[in-house]
Amino acid sequence: MSLQDIKSRIGKAEQTAGRAPGSVTLIAVSKVQPNDRVEAVLEEGHRTFGENKVQEAAGKWPDFRERFAGINLHLIGPLQSNKTRQAMQLFDAIHSVDRPKLARAIARIAQEEGQCPDLFIQVNTGEEDQKAGVLPADADAFVTECRQLDLPIRGLMCIPPVEEEPTLHFALLAKIAARNGLEGLSMGMSGDFERAITHGATHVRVGSAIFGARPTG
Ligand SMILES: *Cc1c(COP(=O)(O)O)cnc(C)c1O
Repeated sequence: MSLQDIKSRIGKAEQTAGRAPGSVTLIAVSKVQPNDRVEAVLEEGHRTFGENKVQEAAGKWPDFRERFAGINLHLIGPLQSNKTRQAMQLFDAIHSVDRPKLARAIARIAQEEGQCPDLFIQVNTGEEDQKAGVLPADADAFVTECRQLDLPIRGLMCIPPVEEEPTLHFALLAKIAARNGLEGLSMGMSGDFERAITHGATHVRVGSAIFGARPTG
């Protein structure tokens, strides 16, 4: 696989689903990948990337930003409250807003700084204990709470349980988004991004299918 393959598969999936060409944003998930692989994808002209750890992203993206214009960085992993300010300075979008305390911290810092990244609320569609995200039953109330804080909520994000059919989770996320008037749907990874697009994904998060398997250890 490569960047171009993934882009053409996204294009086909958009077409099959009757979606407008270019309506799906590809977030190339570069976490743990060696810098030369990331640089190769930057050289190919891609500019939208995802990282799951604030610290790791802070270590590599400022340099890339000096060398490549127009980089758009998305935080797709959990955010600890004490890293909120750093994350808001580094990222253009945060996909892991999942609790009132974090929402309030973001709102306070957005007030101070006069700007805020695009935000996605993470929903724990599989109701897994170990996974972040608001429970589906709490999602509507949390969307309302975020809106009362004037947060720029663009949509919802989910990570389906690994051993389950993801389309049920994609459909659930789409339903919660629709009834809350949210357009963004961050869902779909290397193994299932085409199915996510069929179910309305606006942002797919693809790592290993672009960069190769992540180095372990
Ligand atoms: C790592 C990661 C991805 C990408 O996973 P791949 O299977 O490599 O495409 C997508 N979303 C999140 C939240 C991740 O942590």
